[in-house]
Amino acid sequence: MRLAMVVLYTGAGLIALLYAALTYRRRSETPLALPLSLVMAGSAQWALADACALAAPTPGLAVTFNYLIFLGVATVVVGFFWHTTVSAGRRPPRLALMLIHPVLLMAVLATDPWHHLFYRRVEAGGLGMVVQPGPAYWAHVLYSYAMMAFGLVLVIRALRRAVRGQRRVYLWFLVGALAPTVGNLVTVFIDVDLQGLDLAPVLFLTSGVVWWWTDRSGVNSDPVPVTYAQVLSALSDAVMVLDPNGRFLDVNPAATKLLAAVNPACDAVIGRQWREVVGPHFTAMVADTGQTTIHGPSGDVYDFRVVKIEAAADGTSTCTVVVARDITELERLRAELTDQAVRDGLTGVYNRRHLAAVLDAQARAAADGDPLSIVMIDVDHFKAVNDRYGHAVGDRMLVDLARQLTGSVRESDLVARYGGEEFVVVLPGVPAHAAAERADQWRRQCAARAIDTPHGTLNATFSAGVAQLAATGGPDELLRLADEAMYRAKRAGRNQVLVAESALSISG
Ligand code: GH3
Ligand code: MG
Ligand code: MG
Repeated sequence: MRLAMVVLYTGAGLIALLYAALTYRRRSETPLALPLSLVMAGSAQWALADACALAAPTPGLAVTFNYLIFLGVATVVVGFFWHTTVSAGRRPPRLALMLIHPVLLMAVLATDPWHHLFYRRVEAGGLGMVVQPGPAYWAHVLYSYAMMAFGLVLVIRALRRAVRGQRRVYLWFLVGALAPTVGNLVTVFIDVDLQGLDLAPVLFLTSGVVWWWTDRSGVNSDPVPVTYAQVLSALSDAVMVLDPNGRFLDVNPAATKLLAAVNPACDAVIGRQWREVVGPHFTAMVADTGQTTIHGPSGDVYDFRVVKIEAAADGTSTCTVVVARDITELERLRAELTDQAVRDGLTGVYNRRHLAAVLDAQARAAADGDPLSIVMIDVDHFKAVNDRYGHAVGDRMLVDLARQLTGSVRESDLVARYGGEEFVVVLPGVPAHAAAERADQWRRQCAARAIDTPHGTLNATFSAGVAQLAATGGPDELLRLADEAMYRAKRAGRNQVLVAESALSISG
């Protein structure tokens, strides 16, 4: 039995020693290597001293080796605490403070034969010897456990704050720490008389392997673990947590910035009411869950999502999480795109697709009796302008006419480019004769207007047809009638406005 244990301790001690050396060589790669090699070096000394104490030929030598075990233990405690602190994302502990215990212990052990504070009595017996621990022994045991427990608490706290991927690694870390702790508890409290049976240094090898794996698995190679708080503070979305009474429990930096923009007078928000901080604009929305777009007082636009976090048992809400994003710029771009989709690229007036949609809507609205007229405008001899001066000058003429028309209509009217050099103006609430009068005014303005071109100034004229929506007709009929009237105006000599059906001509 004794021989088997000597072999076991020696084997474990030598493996731990080798492991300590290999880990020490990796000290520049990871901040966990140095403390881990300390743990392994400590366990090596612990196991080898165990082996020597068992194999010692005289009781005196056995006691000396037995004392050496505790220096190994003290080294393990330093390494263990250091390892847990770094793993938990903290700075390594002060080495000077950590060394107090081993140095004091060394002094007490060296002088124990005189004061017997560590071992009150040592006798031969059992597998090696039987000892009666003194107060210094218990102080050492208590201190060691306190430090290891403290380290484990740090790791458990880090585990609770960690993101999911890291939690797994912390759990393995705890499993690694558990094996020797259990083994040591058995030795110290249950098997205190059986000095031959000391499982802890052997089991620390298990810790070494598990810790080496957790460190190597890569997730933990960064000494600073990522916590949910850190993830939240990295978000550009504002995240705000409210208690059931609508008071701020927590906000991330983006939320602090957003709240400062919404209410510059309010600096510290934690503990204050949502209503009181954000003002009336944003108050109604937290009552319900879901998504809302809110327009702020200064034209800014926010996307708000409200989620109630419910307690599992009774379904009552424990807090409300509000995620807000400033979408002012996004909304501006969206509005710009929407506008571009309904406009003509060259002239900037509405396009034919939008004209059709508006005419449909207007025709339905006009069904209850209000008149609706349109003016169909076609530039005279436009092809000749293109042919003589080039396409660019033609374009210029179209842009100019579009600008003139847009400047002449009222807010309720609408100017659209119907085709190449054809425009349609929609005039809601205007009867045909009034529409024709206004169209004729535009025609005279256009004819009198000089357009600057590289070839000198040019004058353009147009012909127009006016039609009023009939009680029986729809938008297509209206366009057809206006087109017909416009062609009649062309045939009648151009540069004039004709009203559909009635041969009313208001030419200049
Ligand atoms: P009319 O008085 O009978 O209307 O004669 P017109 O020459 O204006 O008639 P026509 O419809 O034959 O010519 C229209 C021309 O408009 C033909 C086409 O090349 C030109 N056009 C169509 N779209 C554009 C454009 O976007 N830019 C330019 N510069 N020309 C265009
Ligand atoms: Mg034409
Ligand atoms: Mg034309």
